[in-house]
Amino acid sequence: QAWQKSIRESSHVKREEGLVVLVTGAAGFVGSHVSLALKKRGDGVVGLDNFNKYYDPQLKRDRQKLLERHGIFIIEGDINDAVLLKELFDMIPFTHVMHLAAQAGVRYALENPNSYVHSNIAGLVTLLEQCRKANPQPAFVWASSSSVYGLNTKVPFAESDRTDQPASLYAATKKAGEEFVHTYNHIYGLSITGLRFFTVYGPFGRPDMAYFSFTQNILSGKPITIYQGPNKVDLARDFTFIDDIVKGCVASLDTAEKSTGTGGKKRGPAQLRTFNLGNTSPVTVPTLVSILEKHLKVKAKKNFVKMPRNGDVPFTHANVTLARNELGYYPTTDLNTGLKKFVKWYQNYYGIATS
Ligand code: NAD
Repeated sequence: QAWQKSIRESSHVKREEGLVVLVTGAAGFVGSHVSLALKKRGDGVVGLDNFNKYYDPQLKRDRQKLLERHGIFIIEGDINDAVLLKELFDMIPFTHVMHLAAQAGVRYALENPNSYVHSNIAGLVTLLEQCRKANPQPAFVWASSSSVYGLNTKVPFAESDRTDQPASLYAATKKAGEEFVHTYNHIYGLSITGLRFFTVYGPFGRPDMAYFSFTQNILSGKPITIYQGPNKVDLARDFTFIDDIVKGCVASLDTAEKSTGTGGKKRGPAQLRTFNLGNTSPVTVPTLVSILEKHLKVKAKKNFVKMPRNGDVPFTHANVTLARNELGYYPTTDLNTGLKKFVKWYQNYYGIATS
């Protein structure tokens, strides 16, 4: 197979020190950034992505090209493909898996519920099965989501808060994922770190997310729809810049303990951690729009609409004390600075002349 030849010929996974990481979802937004960060500091990285058509496939191909320029190869395949996973793990002794492949998005689930089950539950279990059978067993770090807090109204959200009220199918599959990894930790001694990301944004971001689609619409003069909660209360999100998320992911990999496996007599409990990775300062959607207007130098045409029951939650707000204490995670980019960087990237990527 083509990918086997490419991997054999590449030197980047033949390592004696440092991490050897399988990054799933490497052609995605977060996966591409994390892969580059790992590679730049000298770790071995192999990507896996099925290049699904959930959003503009060209963007995924362009991220892939960027990664290839840095010597990172992305295998085109699905995390549900157990045969492919076995061949891959037989070839490469991964020390870590950074699992970022998923069906993302909250509203898409209304029309496509099964794609969430396919990637976020069945795919997760297929990957976990391979990890528990692998020798060595890799440490498993994966993306859950702030959406697991669902309709919880206690803010800011702490890891110990209730997560039994998912508002969307996406959230339900992430919550289910948290239960599955717990079982793999318990039975097979897999080292597990779950990361609950809060609304990640930045260059090479996802076109299905509000900050991105608002930018597209504002620049093309199309109106944008701004949802409001009951009594016209604005929705708010704890927008977190991609560079901060990447630092949290890398710190999670660096502090992940080895899996204890099931073979050794001295087996103790394997590491099992969950961290919020957020920004700790939520911003309302109208404020997000006004910051975009400032950087784009264009006024938005706004339609305010009562939020339908579509899976969105009214607000998110991270408490990151645990991540600060255990990972040294300090988000440093405010929304104004981060959106400025996003807009600069957007204008450059889409060849938009700026005055
Ligand atoms: P993304 O859609 O850009 O990246 C996910 C990648 O996974 C895509 O490139 C997709 O093609 C790939 N993929 C999906 N299903 C697959 C499968 N079955 N097999 C192989 N590849 C598959 O999303 P993202 O924003 O980079 O998100 C990364 C992770 O972080 C996801 O798990 C997501 O649920 C989680 N997350 C993201 C955010 C955010 O705001 N971006 C917030 C919370 C959680």
